[in-house]
Amino acid sequence: MKRVAILGGGPAGAFAAEQLASAGLGVILIDEKLAWEKPCGGGLTHKAYSQYPFLIDNAMPKRVVTETVLAAPKARAVTLKLGEPLLVYSRFDLNRMLLERAERAGAQVEKARVTEMSRRGPGWQLRTSGGIVDADFCIVATGARNPLRNVGTELTPPDTMSALGYYVPGEQAGIDIQFLPQLEGYIWIFPRCGHLSVGICGKGEPAGSLRKRLEHFMNERGLPWKGASFYSHLLPSLDTGSWRKNRVAGEGWMAVGDAAGLVDPITGEGLYYAIRSADLAARSLLSASGDLAARMAQYRVLLRRDFAADLEYASRLAKRVFLGRFLRGSVPTRMVQFTARSPRFAAIMQDLFAGRQPYLGLKRRLMRNLNGSLYEIVMSLGFSRLVPRGEPAKP
Ligand SMILES: Cc1cc2nc3c(=O)[nH]c(=O)nc-3n(C[C@H](O)[C@H](O)[C@H](O)COP(=O)(O)OP(=O)(O)OC[C@H]3O[C@@H](n4cnc5c(N)ncnc54)[C@H](O)[C@@H]3O)c2cc1C
Repeated sequence: MKRVAILGGGPAGAFAAEQLASAGLGVILIDEKLAWEKPCGGGLTHKAYSQYPFLIDNAMPKRVVTETVLAAPKARAVTLKLGEPLLVYSRFDLNRMLLERAERAGAQVEKARVTEMSRRGPGWQLRTSGGIVDADFCIVATGARNPLRNVGTELTPPDTMSALGYYVPGEQAGIDIQFLPQLEGYIWIFPRCGHLSVGICGKGEPAGSLRKRLEHFMNERGLPWKGASFYSHLLPSLDTGSWRKNRVAGEGWMAVGDAAGLVDPITGEGLYYAIRSADLAARSLLSASGDLAARMAQYRVLLRRDFAADLEYASRLAKRVFLGRFLRGSVPTRMVQFTARSPRFAAIMQDLFAGRQPYLGLKRRLMRNLNGSLYEIVMSLGFSRLVPRGEPAKP
């Protein structure tokens, strides 16, 4: 294989380009916009920068956030200290940094739109707004609105959610997460360098109604949305059944990032999975063993082992997390109340925010800590006076 074409230069495409070019392959990356302010919170978890330290060790402007305020209906807001900070980037800066790294590694970076890809013998011919490009292999990294019909995840409406928001002037130290009644999603306020990104994501609800919910919230918070810059985009959120038949690779191509539907169906986190899938795709392609078909099979296996099985499980949990009931209250309300009252529960929430607690294993950890958490909650409610001295020992 001599030449790999990377279609799309967001985090997934740029990182794949860097990895493949560093290994000595001829790489051409084609993006219609190159570095741009893609609608996004720009939040990067500890999981991302601990595995890819260059994401924190760089000179790019970014916010380092060490606390989050969680709020839900009928629950008093609680401040959760983040054991490991969350980084918040502007997407223009993050994309620029990743594209520069790809170029430095030797990738050729072209600004053009890919309009068509067709098979030419064992390779590909791409039609772009800048002309024709030939390649032996394609990495599809065109994001959630992938216009290339025959490659990448086939997203149906139940596999997506809308995400939209406003960039508003303002300054605050932490992030805010607000759960709303009957919404499989949430509102966020992320502090960025020089402004706030206020947004909402939700599954199964039209964008217009999400926007109304967000504007209502912003009015209540005194955040001016009229005249503010509005953004909206599609967020993959694969249904459970779609994970198993997810089209992540085919003859002569692999898909990475949003184009492969690789987003956490609960939090909407996609940046880590974009970079991680690009890494796994590059490793599979560069693997010394097996023919191309074997390398694509290897990519599927690596994805599943690394995080796709966990995200598939998360897709089963999502409805229960946002719309379920526990102890006669909504799950988000209980989550906020438990975070306030139980240090054990708060520690689990911290690990979820850092990306250190996989969804597979979450139930076991919750159950293991249930007695202890309930004990802490009961004590915090002032029942300690009712417990006979010396017993029971704290679980
Ligand atoms: C509102 C919102 C908030 C979000 N907040 C967060 C967050 O805080 N943290 C987080 O981890 N994730 C967040 N996400 C998800 C995150 O934005 C995505 O998962 C991430 O951008 C995926 O990266 P990617 O490289 O796969 O795709 P993209 O970043 O979408 O990149 C795709 C690239 O392909 C290019 N392209 C598309 N079609 C063509 C074509 N035909 N020819 C040439 N180029 C093409 C585009 O110009 C683009 O640059 C959010 C998403 C939304 C919508």
